[in-house]
Amino acid sequence: MPNYDVHVLSGVVSYPVIVAAAGLAAAHGVPLALTTMALVLGYAFYVLGSDLPDMDHPNALIHRGTKPIVSVVVGGAVYVNAAGSINVGEPWLNMAVEWGIAVLAAVIAWFAFTWMMPKHRGIVHSFLFAAVYGGLAFVLVEYGLNMTTGEGLYVGFAAFCGYALHLLLDGELSLL
Ligand SMILES: [Zn+2]
Repeated sequence: MPNYDVHVLSGVVSYPVIVAAAGLAAAHGVPLALTTMALVLGYAFYVLGSDLPDMDHPNALIHRGTKPIVSVVVGGAVYVNAAGSINVGEPWLNMAVEWGIAVLAAVIAWFAFTWMMPKHRGIVHSFLFAAVYGGLAFVLVEYGLNMTTGEGLYVGFAAFCGYALHLLLDGELSLL
């Protein structure tokens, strides 16, 4: 089984192949826009995708690295909603109690992230998830960053390929 370094480095070095494939397709009328920004973003999504499927393993670096981010995002979101809703006395005390609630949610998210993750090499290691990841990259680039559809399609394609590269190296070629 390839480890973290092998997965990530294979993504880091193989990107020119993706650029070549997309460039060839674009030259034959496929609506992919290989602008400098799209190429750089595509590289980021490609390399991230090359390790992302191992999110489903509790000991994997990407799983452990994502946990605090999820935890902080949930805690922050709960605080935003709880802010101003507690009144136990002084403003600083209200704020501290609101953060107490936020922290409780953050801790629950910390454990839930591992508990709720599908089993290792289950559905997260599938082409369905590769397509979902590519789709999310497309939506983020086109609607989140307001780039063109062609740029979004290119970044989505690169993201999908990075994820698929991981599945290929694992020898885990399932659709679902
Ligand atoms: Zn894997």
